[in-house]
Amino acid sequence: MSNVQSLRCKECGRDYPQEPIYVCDFCFGPLEVNYDYDAIAKSMSRESIQDGPLTIWRYDDLLPASRDSAVDIGAGMTPLLKADNLGKELGLNNLWIKNDAANPTHSFKDRVVSVAATKAVEFDFDTIACASTGNLAGATAAHGAKAGMNTMVFIPADLERGKVLGAAIFGSVVLVNGNYDDVNRLCSELGDDRRWAFVNINMRPYYSEGSKSIGYELAEQLGWHAPEHIIVPVASGSLFTKVYKGLNEFAELGIIDNANTKMHIAQPFGCSPVAKAFVEEQAHPKPVIPDTIAKSLAIGSPADGYYTVGIANKTGGSGTIVPESKIAEGMKLLAETEGIFTETAGGVVISTLRRLAREGVIGPDEETVALITGTGLKTLEAIEDSVSTKTIDATVRSFDEIVMGRGVK
Ligand SMILES: *Cc1c(COP(=O)(O)O)cnc(C)c1O
Ligand SMILES: [Zn+2]
Repeated sequence: MSNVQSLRCKECGRDYPQEPIYVCDFCFGPLEVNYDYDAIAKSMSRESIQDGPLTIWRYDDLLPASRDSAVDIGAGMTPLLKADNLGKELGLNNLWIKNDAANPTHSFKDRVVSVAATKAVEFDFDTIACASTGNLAGATAAHGAKAGMNTMVFIPADLERGKVLGAAIFGSVVLVNGNYDDVNRLCSELGDDRRWAFVNINMRPYYSEGSKSIGYELAEQLGWHAPEHIIVPVASGSLFTKVYKGLNEFAELGIIDNANTKMHIAQPFGCSPVAKAFVEEQAHPKPVIPDTIAKSLAIGSPADGYYTVGIANKTGGSGTIVPESKIAEGMKLLAETEGIFTETAGGVVISTLRRLAREGVIGPDEETVALITGTGLKTLEAIEDSVSTKTIDATVRSFDEIVMGRGVK
């Protein structure tokens, strides 16, 4: 059972059949999944959700595929943790961390790929592929393996080892000399004459729907309401726009009373076209050439940047450009206060949070969620200079001397 009516152009509203297509033939606008919300209102309730599996597929009324056919390695229903220690540090009494590093391949990308892989099987593709900034590679390769498909994953050659090997274990990884935007262009060209399911190109309308599940989960885990603030790390802007869409669908269906969440953009200095557009009051982000240690956010030409700026404005949100030097600092702060080791993108989020708290954009009692989208174990390179260890001989004397700092009398 699926409640999808069509793919609909976000710009001109033209409808298209459910196929592996992503762009409008008339106006080149992006296509988005369009649902029969009347049918969904009849079948979906808080109770029906709570009867479902502990994965994103508990929300399958609002996804473009059914849980019965899902390529499922357990994406979703990640912990939402009350962050009292970090909150105390920042002067925030109602702070929550959504820890999406707890997904099967340790990033939120498992949500989007679970949906895209399910559609790829449905459309009878035998190869699943992607252009990735790193985390998508692991998620695509893992779900491809589970689905029994060939995998073909393309990433920039300079990515962190954890992301390269963490994807290669599942299938075929191709390192491309160039940045993400080069990789993406190459994949678009390859896609022209190969019948492959590129999860974030020809499968993009389905793929991006997977991110809505973060919005649904936040509402459910907070006791069926939307938070006042969400801080989202932005690369292409897909996650940002879909968390917003998810909360608004719940409000429209009456599953929550309303969705008045302020949506905040977090980007690193070395790749901040979307945050910059927000700050400079431009509707359209200007493309940049990325140079940041937050490699998962290094998309210089963000496909959903325009929509992201629009939503941040419409909701009373903000845009923050985090200095590169503050990224590892944010990672450390979260680790030391909450026991969560996030990757560079999470460092960008925590530094953004600190700034918004300091400037009073977020009030002390306002319910706030920081999205932690990936694990620090994949970006060890970033913290090499910020943490230190001590090596000793296997003797008490050596321990006392070197660790306790007690010299020999
Ligand atoms: C992909 C990614 C994002 C943001 O992705 P969008 O392209 O904006 O949807 C954020 N954090 C991490 C860790 C990612 O891998
Ligand atoms: Zn159109």
